[in-house]
Amino acid sequence: MINKLNILRFFLGIIFVILPSGLVIAEDSGVSVFMYHRVGDHRYPSTNVSIEQLKSQIFEVKKNHYNILKASDVVKHIAEGIEFKKNSVAFTIDDAYVSFYENGWPLFRDNDIPATLFISTDMTDFSIPGYMSWDQIRKYINEGGLIGQHTASHMSLPFNNVENIKEDILRSQKRFMEELGFVPDLFAFPFGEASENVISIIKDLNIKSAFGQHSGPISHKSNIHYMPRFSINENFGDIERFTFSSSLKPLIVNNLKPSDMFISNSKLLNFSFEVENKKLINGLQCFGNLTGEWTSIDLVKNESSILFSKQTTYKEGRRRINCTSKFNGEWYWFGHQILIK
Ligand SMILES: [Zn+2]
Repeated sequence: MINKLNILRFFLGIIFVILPSGLVIAEDSGVSVFMYHRVGDHRYPSTNVSIEQLKSQIFEVKKNHYNILKASDVVKHIAEGIEFKKNSVAFTIDDAYVSFYENGWPLFRDNDIPATLFISTDMTDFSIPGYMSWDQIRKYINEGGLIGQHTASHMSLPFNNVENIKEDILRSQKRFMEELGFVPDLFAFPFGEASENVISIIKDLNIKSAFGQHSGPISHKSNIHYMPRFSINENFGDIERFTFSSSLKPLIVNNLKPSDMFISNSKLLNFSFEVENKKLINGLQCFGNLTGEWTSIDLVKNESSILFSKQTTYKEGRRRINCTSKFNGEWYWFGHQILIK
């Protein structure tokens, strides 16, 4: 774990050093959606931010007049194909931990920053220690808090069958209706785990959008059922990374293969995608943890497509690929998560 983090820090560190100061986004802007879990609960550094870190991020977006959107506005932009304004950001929080309610929500509320909380209803229904109660959720909503669905049980959806997935999501929707009188529109995949099958099931349930947990800015052309978010935690919660993530432009790719995010190891022969803006191909570089460790990925580039394959066994579990390209002083970013079974 230490090794993985160090390699990633090294990679991100390189970017910070050569990053020009200031946030100048002229065109092909996206929106960086941030994902938090706990606030001020230092027992879980990988899912926590300190109160000081969150305060400095909120100060940054207020002081520098970022275009702060609701998560629902992000979805609306994609649904209607509307480009994002420069410096657009949105804030989301997963799992409804009490530490967010007590330490994080007052900061968002008092600074008029829209926050969307994705709630797995079983945690609240079973009064699991550390999770918000329905009374706290109602108070949060009365104070202006926004919410989204995060299933009932927070199970890994790709590993479940159609019946179980539908039962779990419908049970959650029933509980929202009983406790709050409405079912939230937005949805976030537990663990950011999706598959083509899971996406077709949530579409059947009339869920019109869904957030994952792979990093990257969202463009108005992003997959509305697999939108990326930047995870913020103690290790990656410093203001330099936050402002860098906010400044990134989306690196738009098409015809990504394999198109399914849930993959058997045996099928993992080649990845390929087309880069929409051909000017970004030359500087394109990709990093991934497909084998368990973060490493640079050797790419085969031609005029229209990028191809890579690792002649090795990929490690089971959630794996990520991040590709970047610098052009005209701007950094472009594409992130993807796959689940290997
Ligand atoms: Zn979650």
